[in-house]
Amino acid sequence: MDENLRKVQLRQVVTIFALIFVFMGVVCTFLISRSERSTQDTMARLIATDTTQLQFNVSNYFYDVSTAADLMFTDPNYYEYDPTTTDLVDYDKLAREKAIDDRLVDVGSTKNFADFGVVYENDDTVGWISQTTAGLFTNVNMYQQFSTLITDQTHESGWAYGFMGNYDRIWFVKRLNPHAILVISFYSRELESAFTFPKELSGVTMRLCDPQGNVIYSTNDEEISHPLDPSVTDLIGTAGNSSYHTDRLFAAASTCNNGWRVVSSVPAGSILQEARSSRNTLVLFLVFMAVTFALLLGVVYTRLSKPVDAIVNNLSRRATRDQLAGVLNKITYETLVKDRLANAEGAGLASYAILDLDHFKDVNDTLGHARGDDAIVTMGDVLNRTCADSALIGRVGGDEFSVFAIWPEVIDGSDMDALNHMLDQVIAEVHRSFPTRQWGNLHITTSIGVAVAPAGTVDFDKLYHVADQALYQAKSAGRDRHVILRYEEGEWE
Ligand code: GH3
Ligand code: MG
Repeated sequence: MDENLRKVQLRQVVTIFALIFVFMGVVCTFLISRSERSTQDTMARLIATDTTQLQFNVSNYFYDVSTAADLMFTDPNYYEYDPTTTDLVDYDKLAREKAIDDRLVDVGSTKNFADFGVVYENDDTVGWISQTTAGLFTNVNMYQQFSTLITDQTHESGWAYGFMGNYDRIWFVKRLNPHAILVISFYSRELESAFTFPKELSGVTMRLCDPQGNVIYSTNDEEISHPLDPSVTDLIGTAGNSSYHTDRLFAAASTCNNGWRVVSSVPAGSILQEARSSRNTLVLFLVFMAVTFALLLGVVYTRLSKPVDAIVNNLSRRATRDQLAGVLNKITYETLVKDRLANAEGAGLASYAILDLDHFKDVNDTLGHARGDDAIVTMGDVLNRTCADSALIGRVGGDEFSVFAIWPEVIDGSDMDALNHMLDQVIAEVHRSFPTRQWGNLHITTSIGVAVAPAGTVDFDKLYHVADQALYQAKSAGRDRHVILRYEEGEWE
């Protein structure tokens, strides 16, 4: 099949394939980016909502603590008691402290408090101040230290974490009177009960931080009592309630009633893992579709092009071949010979042979035109079998054939063995292929006239003319032979 036509066909197929593939790629990319975006938005919303929920839980926990503190001191007598005053006798002191103590134990023992007691200005204590707590103040005044924790001046109370280097407990203090401070503490791990969240958020780290950014409680134990990861702090800033996400991190914050913040964060990678795995599936699908599509196109292309190939091959064969003899037709043959001659200068010795069947008219006349045709077919076969592969073979007239060849190995023109051998072969093969018995006792032979010249020294017309002369000489000399005329030093010999 014509190479150019094949190229055009192939180019069209590849273009269609590329267009469809690009279209599918664009659609998939669009779908992937949409699904990634919606996953991001959903997760950001979910994290923000749950962070607020956790903040409510923690705030409730703190509210319970401050309520317990209020309950401990419903009686104004308890508030006003001041052991530093001089107008109380020991007995009164003991009695009033006993009453306060009872009340504290009543309320405090129902809670999981580590400390619940009153510290007075003279560092006397009533209620339950644990040994661990008392041990924190061996060299300093306990009352004064607790006083520094009262940061909420309206309610004269305060919350603290990391107080006196202790990172286990959360402290709540409340002033009872100018000389007494109520102290409640509980273990920060108690907040675990407030940290409940849906399992979709199990990969999310949630924690409670104090205003200095220290992690009081975290679902990641390693963070507890350490400063919050700066990448999270950078994202959420110091604003009360916020929700942000970047390519690397999702984070949300919500502020509790005491000013502490619940902060949640999760690396974007783990959130997008699901979206990415669906993207990978899509990419795999795309590759699968592309391969299937390519195979399908390949099959369709070969299926469709096969008959077209056959038709085009047939047409091009008809256009260039002699239908009877199966060699090149006159026009194609002569065009190709001229092409080769034009490009063959210095390539060797060019030989142009004209072969004419002897007394062919007799074949037609004796055996009929159809047998005459058979003889032409046979002659074509003989030439195809015996001539060199590189030779051009054409039918140039009724019973006239021509063979053109270039002989590189005899470039100096002194050795024409190869050419002579080919001509002898042709004549011998003609004898063999036309047995007289099968051809009405006719001896079908051929005469051959050959012009030989160094390639590039003479043109086509000259070669043709001299070959024709040589043929004439062969016919005149009795036929069934070859005559070679050689061009040497400007002369034909
Ligand atoms: P010579 O030895 O001088 O060549 O004698 P010849 O009889 O072969 O004479 P010539 O070559 O001049 O005649 C060729 C004949 O070939 C003339 C024509 O009737 C016959 N011929 C030409 N084309 C065809 C063909 O396609 N089929 C058949 N059967 N005969 C053809
Ligand atoms: Mg003839």
